Amino acid sequence: MKLIVNQNKCPQNHKCPSIAVCPKGAITQKDIYSLPEIDEKLCILCGKCMRYCPKGAFEKV
Ligand code: SF4
Repeated sequence: MKLIVNQNKCPQNHKCPSIAVCPKGAITQKDIYSLPEIDEKLCILCGKCMRYCPKGAFEKV
């Protein structure tokens, strides 16, 4: 299982609020108009980002 950011749900027009809550620093975003990226090697699938994203764009697949 891994975590992805669904580009159809993320409006890609703001700083991703989940970046600040990720305990592993696994989420990065080039700029506010970019889709956040998740480093699979760092992510522990804790699900915090899923709870903080107002658009529900983080999904476990
Ligand atoms: S599931 Fe947890 S560790 Fe993985 S990107 Fe989200 S907040 Fe970070």
